[in-house]
Amino acid sequence: MARKKFLAGNWKLWGTLGEAKALATALIPAAKASENRVLVAPPYTAIAAVKEAVKGSPILVGAQDVSALETGARTGEISVLMLKELGVDVIILGHSERRQFHGETDKLVNEKIKLALKHGFEVIYCNGETLAEREAGKAAEVVIRQTKEAFAGLTEADLAKVTIAYEPVWAIGTGKTATPKDANDIHKVIRSTVAELYTKKAADAIIIQYGGSVKPDNVKELMAQTDIDGALVGGASLKADTFIPIIAFDK
Ligand code: PEP
Repeated sequence: MARKKFLAGNWKLWGTLGEAKALATALIPAAKASENRVLVAPPYTAIAAVKEAVKGSPILVGAQDVSALETGARTGEISVLMLKELGVDVIILGHSERRQFHGETDKLVNEKIKLALKHGFEVIYCNGETLAEREAGKAAEVVIRQTKEAFAGLTEADLAKVTIAYEPVWAIGTGKTATPKDANDIHKVIRSTVAELYTKKAADAIIIQYGGSVKPDNVKELMAQTDIDGALVGGASLKADTFIPIIAFDK
């Protein structure tokens, strides 16, 4: 089955208003010329400005996280209700930096996914093994466990709004990329897990992005793999010069 490629930029802790608006604007022609889905996820403070900058273009705007609560005593957090007001399309959840630096567990990620879906958002759900887990031969085991915990309580219909991003932790921001074949092998494991939890139809339809040092010079080979349906990109999404060739990898 043909799955539409989905290229997403995670800007993390980058982007003053001026920088974010300029970069989003520079991406518009490439996104318009592409048949692929394109998303940028600026920091919360720049979401409104970026939404305005890309108005009328096919660029989707994402948030990098959300609180597990709609409202309440959570100093510093941002709620789904606030993201809805901004017109956010997609929420990235379970990024390894949220797990590593903010103690997010699979259970919390599952709660956030359910809340985001309840409010009509699309979700990019991230998983992936650490270097120690990979070296111990546990990469497949880890992503199977993570996927099962993250999807607990989700229906097959919910999956239409869920993208999975497989991001081996050791490849994020390090310049080390999983070989296209190694990445594809884990994508197949994740897809089989979705088939086991739901149906082959759901597994065939779900978009699985790869993330971890995706750059203009390796994107083509990664996207040529049978089970890699897009990319979640950090560093290379911060400059038009490097993100445009990723958006337009098939041109
Ligand atoms: C990411 O932030 O999800 C990521 C994959 O980062 P980078 O592309 O810089 O490795």
